[in-house]
Amino acid sequence: MKVVLASHNKKKMVEMQAILSRMGVEVISQADVGLDLEPEETGTTFEENARIKARAVMEAAGLPAIADDSGLMVDALNGEPGVYSARYGGEGLDDTGRWQLLLKNMAGEENRACKFVSVICCTFPDGTEVMARGECPGVLAQGPAGEGGFGYDPIFYLPQLGKTMAQLTPEEKNKISHRARALAGFQIEWEKGNHGTDQ
Ligand code: IMP
Repeated sequence: MKVVLASHNKKKMVEMQAILSRMGVEVISQADVGLDLEPEETGTTFEENARIKARAVMEAAGLPAIADDSGLMVDALNGEPGVYSARYGGEGLDDTGRWQLLLKNMAGEENRACKFVSVICCTFPDGTEVMARGECPGVLAQGPAGEGGFGYDPIFYLPQLGKTMAQLTPEEKNKISHRARALAGFQIEWEKGNHGTDQ
């Protein structure tokens, strides 16, 4: 079965391709079907946004489409930045500017519990969908450490490993990350729905 990946992110494409190919799914890009959609993420939950992105591409391509939506939720900020993680602080900021702003907004706060969340959604032309959520709990560090990863990784501390997410190798990150957990759950849901290799 061919599934169009809604994301333009090359890293996500490689990660998804690896898992989905084991499930007998061929992941193709929007470019492969002549599309270049960037649907507006108007939802208030990761689930809504993943569904919005997958549906827009599925409807345009006439093929099943898969999308993911992810972000960082901080307990002391009532779950912010959440679905606004990529846009935290407005358009002018880059990844570093965003985590710097977050540390500033958390100055003096003792409750530093947080989690990364990823939701993966595949929608089919018959209206059905397969969705799964993965979470990775952590602690917001007082300052950055590490050069790897992206986004909020330098300030996302994993107490059980004694490192930030940015100090992990890609292989280590892929074992514990919210995205890896969402993909594992997605595989279980996919197989329950009989979207097996026979289709
Ligand atoms: P999106 O899923 O492409 O909308 O990205 C959401 C935003 O959440 C990213 O721009 C990052 O700021 C943040 N984010 C999502 N996953 C990760 C991760 O694995 N590490 C660090 N930041 C992440």
